[in-house]
Formats: sequence, C-alpha cells, structure tokens
Amino acid sequence: MSNPSQLSTEVANRRTFAIISHPDAGKTTITEKVLLFGQAIQRAGTVKGKKSGQHAKSDWMEMEKERGISVTTSVMQFPYHGSLINLLDTPGHEDFSEDTYRTLTAVDSCLMVIDSAKGVEARTIKLMEVTRLRDTPIITFMNKLDRETRDPVDLMDEVERVLNIACAPITWPIGMGKSFKGVYHLLRDEVILYHTGQGHMIQEERIIKGLDNPELETALGGYAAELRDEVELVKGASHQFDQQAFLAGELTPVFFGTALGNFGVDHMLDGLVEWAPVPQPRQTDQCLVQPEDENFSAFVFKIQANMDPQHRDRVAFLRIVSGQYAPGMKARHVRLGKDVRFSDALTFMAGDRERAEEAFAGDIIGLHNHGTIQLGDTFTSGADMKFTGIPNFAPELFRRIRLKDPLKAKQLQKGLIQLSEEGAVQLFRPLRNNDLIVGAVGVLQFDVVVSRLKTEYKVEAIYEPINVSTARWVICSDERKLDEFKRKNNDNLALDGANQLAYIAPTMVNLSLAQERYPDIEFHKTREH
Ligand code: GDP
Repeated sequence: MSNPSQLSTEVANRRTFAIISHPDAGKTTITEKVLLFGQAIQRAGTVKGKKSGQHAKSDWMEMEKERGISVTTSVMQFPYHGSLINLLDTPGHEDFSEDTYRTLTAVDSCLMVIDSAKGVEARTIKLMEVTRLRDTPIITFMNKLDRETRDPVDLMDEVERVLNIACAPITWPIGMGKSFKGVYHLLRDEVILYHTGQGHMIQEERIIKGLDNPELETALGGYAAELRDEVELVKGASHQFDQQAFLAGELTPVFFGTALGNFGVDHMLDGLVEWAPVPQPRQTDQCLVQPEDENFSAFVFKIQANMDPQHRDRVAFLRIVSGQYAPGMKARHVRLGKDVRFSDALTFMAGDRERAEEAFAGDIIGLHNHGTIQLGDTFTSGADMKFTGIPNFAPELFRRIRLKDPLKAKQLQKGLIQLSEEGAVQLFRPLRNNDLIVGAVGVLQFDVVVSRLKTEYKVEAIYEPINVSTARWVICSDERKLDEFKRKNNDNLALDGANQLAYIAPTMVNLSLAQERYPDIEFHKTREH
C-alpha cells in the first residue's frame, strides 16, 4: 500500500472527464485524437460514416468493428504530459440518457464539443443541465473549423446566452473552412499554424511567437492585420480566464480547432491538465469522502454487458473515490454486508482491458459481475457508508412484455431483473397481477431489451401496449398510512426490479389526484440506488 504522500501525489496527477456533445459534433473523432496524443493508438484511423440503426450498440463496438482498432471499452486511461487522464465515454444516443447521467456523476470535469457550423444544439443543452446539478467545470471545444462555420463571436455569444456560462477564449481562430490558417493562443501569445491533411498523426506545429512578429505577414498575408484587430476586440469584449469561476462551473475556457484535422485538440488537453480539477470528494449518507482518505471507497456508476460476447460477461464500473486499489485487497460490499476480495479488477490503460496492478482515487476499475453488483453499490475498506446521488429516473414509456413461449417465465423474470439492475431498462411488477411492465426513458431501450433477452437469456419476448403513462416511487414514514394507501390503491401499485414500491398511473391527472388525496405519501420522480 502507498503511504499518504504517494496517495496525494497520485491523486494530484489525475484528471477524470467525459465529453458532452450533440450527435455528430465530433465526440468520437476527438476521443480518437485524444488517445493519439496519449500514444494509445499510433495512427488513428479515419471515421467511417456511421450507419444509422446501430445506436443500440455502444460506440466502442462500432469503432472496433469499423476501424479494427482496440478501443475496447467505454473508459480510457492514458498519460499526457505527466498527468494521468481518465476519459469516460457516454452513449451517443439520447435514449440512453440515464446511463449518461450516471456516468457524469463519476467525472470531475467535462469537455463540451460544439459543431461550429451549428452552434449550441438540443442535446448539449440537456447535458449541460445535468452537469449543472453538480456544477461540473466545463471546457469548450469549437470543432470543425476546417469547414464554413458561424462567426466565432456569435458562437460564444450563443453559448453564454443559451447555456448561461461565461466564455473565456483561450485560442482564437484565424479564418475558417478552406482558408483556416490556425489559431492565436491568447495566453501564450503564439500563433499556431494549421496544415491540412495531417489529421491522422501528431502534427509538427509551426509556431510564431508574438502577435507583433513580422513573420506573421509572411505566414498569414492579409490575415495578419485582421487577426491583430480581432484579437484586440476579443480581448476587450470577452471574459478573461478565471480559475475560480471555471471550477465553480460559471466560466468555460474556449478552444477552437478541428478534430478531424487533429488541430487544437492538444491545446485543449493542455488546458485540461493545467486547470481541470483533480479527483473531487463525494458525498455519502455519513460524510464527505476525500480522495486522500486512505480507506478505499468506490461506487458503481455503470454496468456494461457483453463486453466479450463469447463469455456473456458483465462488467461493473467503479469510480474510486478514495484510497487505492491493489490486487487481492478486501473491501466491503455495503449493500450485501459482505466482504469481498478483489482479485481480477480491470483497468483501462490505453483503451485495452488488462489486469489492474494499482489504481487510485479518480480512476475507474471494472469488476466482473455475476449478478451480485447493482448500480449505485458502494464498496469500501473503511466504515460502512453509502454514496448518494446515483439515481433512477421515472420512465416515460411503458410496455407490457410477454413471452412467446410461456414455459420460460422464470428466465424472462430473471433476465428483466438483471437488466434492470444494470440500468438497461426498468421493471415494474403490478401487485394485482402477474404482468411484467417494462419502463424506459428512450424508445430504443425497448429494442435493446428484447434483443438481449434473446441472445443472453434465450427467451423470445414481445411487447404489448399498456395503459401506464408515468410512475413514481412512493415512501411514507408512517406505516399505518402507507398500509392504508396500499390497500386502497392496490390496482395502481407495483414493485420495481429492486422490490421498491412504485405508483403506476394511467394518466397524469390520476397521479395528481392521488397526490392530492394522500398528502402524507411522498411521490418521487427519482429513486436513489
Ligand atoms: P459524434 O457523433 O459526436 O461521435 O461525431 P463523430 O466524431 O462521429 O463525427 C461526426 C462526423 O463529423 C464524422 O463524419 C466526422 O468525420 C466529422 N467530423 C468530426 N470532426 C470534424 C472536423 O473537425 N472537421 C470536419 N470537416 N468534419 C469533422
């Protein structure tokens, strides 16, 4: 085990972040270039057109298939300029937004990628709302400068207005589209020139020091004078970078570039290493856990199935909040009240799965899950406690699920319970009959469930419409009142996959009536794991 000072050095070196963006803004391409800088992939392949209808698969499967490169997982760890960076992938499609939400609880900062031709798009707005819940610091990358884009000042205005966050330009673009020349780095006072056609490798950058440097005329021609004027204007009119405001989630440093041309991504990474927060403390039901706390603690934010389709394996992803992981160590699985020995946890160095030799607060490890680990579970080598803030959201879509072959009822039930523990879908079992109701936040989840039931549990299931429009988890501290409520509302009550009581309402009106009639009952839109 490390001593306390080694632990704090390891913590100080780490940055754990995720990318948020609207589909097609360039998240996959940036991920690829970022890994290139991490030397993880020597020569990044080109992004082939993604086929529609494949959203159900996570990006790593698509990437592997299409490009034959080894990005085996949704967690990637790589070194960059002396720091160790953990990049967590989030599902691209909005139908898997719950998964994204939970992943964002496991990071300390986010990179927001914006398509500079399109500006702020719908999904970015949604994801920013989520990051706001924890005031996660945001770095912004304005992508696709090699295309005709919108005016950079407009873009920043839009971010400030729509996303309500101050923008501090760190780099400033010179031209765009065919005449994109590079960027001016406001803090370094450097012009960094862009060359096309080198997106697949790390570029030899040509740097001109100083905005007044006469070399600029040679390199940029007419753009040089224009740039000087523009920079003066921008400096006067925009926010300056402010570390405190950035950490509070109130200001975002803005970088311009092209992920495809692999230009500007390293400027962003430099900013990430310099400014983004080190692993942050996390709240439990007992206390705030600090990363330097020597006791190991971690929570499960994601369960992923089928990482290896041959073995039907499921991996639980844990964010280490404090202390250190070492092979063979013991920790308490708090929900089960059981001590477990970690023998073969995975780490995700350079995108490959390998046996973890060590991992520290801020890192992600993967545990093979044979059904004992659920979303939100806490593991710790210290006193029992439970990390909070990893919720289920009340689904908005409901269907009854039925078997084609009625003899496989047990298998179906088992499959659905496991899939709900993973967060792939939610399950509701009405108290009054044997229906199985599947609830989802996005419609694609339904397709995924049927296909996984078939391949992993060998049951063929079909959906039928059902008259449920919303669900709320119900709690009441007064047992007598809860009993009375249960007696009178038996027809609208169900147990979810974790045996929690939920009210399933045929209409929103019905729900409001129930809420009015039973003021002592709490109706919750989210359920903590
Ligand atoms: P994602 O859906 O956010 O993961 O976006 P992708 O990384 O898959 O990119 C979507 C499309 O935009 C792909 O065709 C990329 O090749 C393209 N793209 C990404 N970055 C750039 C860029 O900087 N310039 C140009 N011209 N195209 C880009």
